[in-house]
Amino acid sequence: YPRTRETNGFHQQYRVLQQLGKGHFATVYLCAERSTGDKYAVKVFERRLNDSQKSQSDAALQQEIALLMGVQHPNLLCLKESFDESNGAYLVLELAPEGELFNWIVRNQKMTEDETRGVFRQLFDGLKYLHERGIVHRDIKPENILVADKNLTVKLGDFGLAKIIGEESFTTTLCGTPCYVAPEILQDNRHRRYTKAVDVWSLGVVLYICLCGFPPFSDELNTPESPFTLAQQIKMGKFDYPSPYWDSVDDSALELIDRMLTVDVDERITVDECLEHPWMTGNRPSLTDSTDGLTGALGNLDFSKRKLQRQRTLLSSVNDVHISEHAEGSEAPVKVFRNEAGKRIHNRPAKASQREVSPSDHRAPQDF
Ligand code: ATP
Repeated sequence: YPRTRETNGFHQQYRVLQQLGKGHFATVYLCAERSTGDKYAVKVFERRLNDSQKSQSDAALQQEIALLMGVQHPNLLCLKESFDESNGAYLVLELAPEGELFNWIVRNQKMTEDETRGVFRQLFDGLKYLHERGIVHRDIKPENILVADKNLTVKLGDFGLAKIIGEESFTTTLCGTPCYVAPEILQDNRHRRYTKAVDVWSLGVVLYICLCGFPPFSDELNTPESPFTLAQQIKMGKFDYPSPYWDSVDDSALELIDRMLTVDVDERITVDECLEHPWMTGNRPSLTDSTDGLTGALGNLDFSKRKLQRQRTLLSSVNDVHISEHAEGSEAPVKVFRNEAGKRIHNRPAKASQREVSPSDHRAPQDF
């Protein structure tokens, strides 16, 4: 890892153009390399370590940065170089010009099931690459899934940060936003386990949201009829697929989400298995396989009707996001009641029955 002297520092080599975003630990700016004009994103961390910690952790930091510099994959936001200067650390990253995936969905009004599949194939590919190298992301969430081009090439960012920021502050901050966090991370410190399985869980939450427009676990679902906090819902793996939002989504997608959101770490699907899953490979029994011609044709008709319905649903939920962004204090989106429990998921394994909720249970599309 080449240490850069301040005379040859970040600002000598790059021009900062504008701020792209701000996270808990760092601020991200658009910048241009002075010698080539090429654009990058630079992530600037203010120094947080006090001097006594610094010398000890510097070596570990250099080692971690070297590891991240070795990561090269089309679906990962790769690190070009880094600068360690007196006023902070600068990580120069590949730029994702189209911004966050969820903002892309809002701008484009929809993402079909096929597009979602394409996005998740890339995310699973990127994650598989990290997992094969022993890197656990630990902070997968929509803000870390960025779009690189109009063809919906996606890149996973912010991997390996836990080591760079320091275990303790990373973990404390993570616990503040548990929506995407795996149940085993919500255990007390001694029992907390950060294995590769945590990433699969978080991606499962993102997949759920992409297919219906609202999260599987939420404090809004803590109602008198179903009084479970967000953390309790996650620890119990308590979620369902309310109608009409899920009516038109392929059953195999629900099966994949079930396997990704499995509380038992040893039972949870791995990223390699995700890539082989029937929803990903399209290798599932077609509607015509088990039926005669007429029923098959009717089945397909029904499928395309449901598909249209689903697009409308996503569109309306995306519009709701739009409205809630621009009209503060406006009415909450219409709440939708789930239809009779089990109707949609009759052919799914026993686990589904744990998720049955009273018909008065409700939820609504909400802000990403
Ligand atoms: P946290 O760091 O607290 O987990 P975060 O992931 O939102 O939160 P950052 O990674 O610091 O924070 O990024 C802030 C925002 O900057 C992102 O949400 C994204 O919109 C933007 N951003 C980050 N990296 C890039 C990039 N390589 N290209 C384009 N935009 C980026």
